[in-house]
Amino acid sequence: MFKKLYIKTYGCQMNVYDSDRMKDVLKPLGYSPCDSPEDADMVILNTCHIREKAAEKVYSELGRLNKIKNNKIGQGLEMILAVAGCVAQAESEEMLRRAPFVDLVFGPQAYHNLPEMIARVSRAKGSVLNTDFPTQAKFDYLPEVMVGKEGIEGASAFLTIQEGCDKFCAFCVVPYTRGAEFSRPAADILVETKRLVDLGVKEVTLLGQNVNSYHGMGTGGIEWGLGRLIREVAEVDGIERIRYMTSYPADMDEELISAHGEIEALMPFLHLPVQSGSDKVLKAMNRRHGADQYRQIVERLEKVRSDIALSSDFIVGFPGESDTDFENTMKLVKEVGFIQAYSFKYSPRPGTPAASLDNQVHETVKTERLKILQHELNKQQLAFNESCVGRNMPVLLDRPGRIKGQIVGRTPYMQPVHISAPEHFLGTIVHPYIEVAKANSLAGSLQITEQSKNVA
Ligand code: SF4
Repeated sequence: MFKKLYIKTYGCQMNVYDSDRMKDVLKPLGYSPCDSPEDADMVILNTCHIREKAAEKVYSELGRLNKIKNNKIGQGLEMILAVAGCVAQAESEEMLRRAPFVDLVFGPQAYHNLPEMIARVSRAKGSVLNTDFPTQAKFDYLPEVMVGKEGIEGASAFLTIQEGCDKFCAFCVVPYTRGAEFSRPAADILVETKRLVDLGVKEVTLLGQNVNSYHGMGTGGIEWGLGRLIREVAEVDGIERIRYMTSYPADMDEELISAHGEIEALMPFLHLPVQSGSDKVLKAMNRRHGADQYRQIVERLEKVRSDIALSSDFIVGFPGESDTDFENTMKLVKEVGFIQAYSFKYSPRPGTPAASLDNQVHETVKTERLKILQHELNKQQLAFNESCVGRNMPVLLDRPGRIKGQIVGRTPYMQPVHISAPEHFLGTIVHPYIEVAKANSLAGSLQITEQSKNVA
């Protein structure tokens, strides 16, 4: 029997990966994706706990979905309403208490059990809660990735290699919602990489909450770090680009840094969150690195790969952050230079150590600091984009543009590039001439000759 599935995904790329795998798991039950909850037999909110008031936003969305569910019931139809991801994990029983009309609440490590959970809902007509942390079990039970609307699309794919985190940064909920660090065995990752290549994938992004703490079982009973794993992934025939995210500065070991100098397929772009440029604040955040240690890592990376560029995350107004601490952040930003960054005002997450600190920074101070920081970061991003004008850059074309005849792709530095090209160029790497730089994207043109259709 054919059924429709609507998944709304919040947050990071790991959630995007998880949502795709949920579609894979549900396909054998007859579920295919649809574009609106009104058309769906099952709705899943795959939630993220990182942003401010995340749980409240989910409850408000659930109120809206409950009306749709009630309308369906009024017409003699059914709709399974499920909440997955980090808010589900954090709220757990509280979610069933506040929203008893929700049928399934399950954490990030439980979605391989979806068929069984759905069966239990249908049989018992009650709600099911599954917020355990058996990470390996999930990867063992997941089906192979699938192609088409239900699975991987385009030439670029995410591949989760590591989950969870043991770092316990004072502001972060991840260790509580995703559990302890877990690395998948290397052999499984290589099999999945080959499968992705068979589906037309050329670029793979290795994902993990703390991806460079990867320490999965390799061959001969020896654990591999991320550097070694990347070397092996690069050997898979057909893989042309490799990326990884998100990384923790203190886990950038020598093997990984040298991989940047030696593996051509490893893109010269790294997301390496620093959070603050003040040692005092970094210590209060329970980060295991100082500002100078971060600078040294960047220097070592630049030594092996001179064209490497960085993006980062920043939190301003962490409890106790003084004017001098903020000035140190600005100093680091100006010294290192970032081609892209995510920056936020600190906001307390319930249950995290920093939420109960009594030296919270006033909202107006946070707002002012964020404005100053973002002004500098935006300037740096635009300057980098402008420096690309007049160059031919390798671009992996991975999706059609909004305008007819336009295709969009990404440079090694993740900048979106819009070009006019025939549709059959999708999935190839071309070298357009960059003509226009905007704040967040580039535009270029392609001489459509055999010479210009180079593969990087
Ligand atoms: S390392 Fe990252 S995921 Fe882990 S606690 Fe810190 S911010 Fe959260």
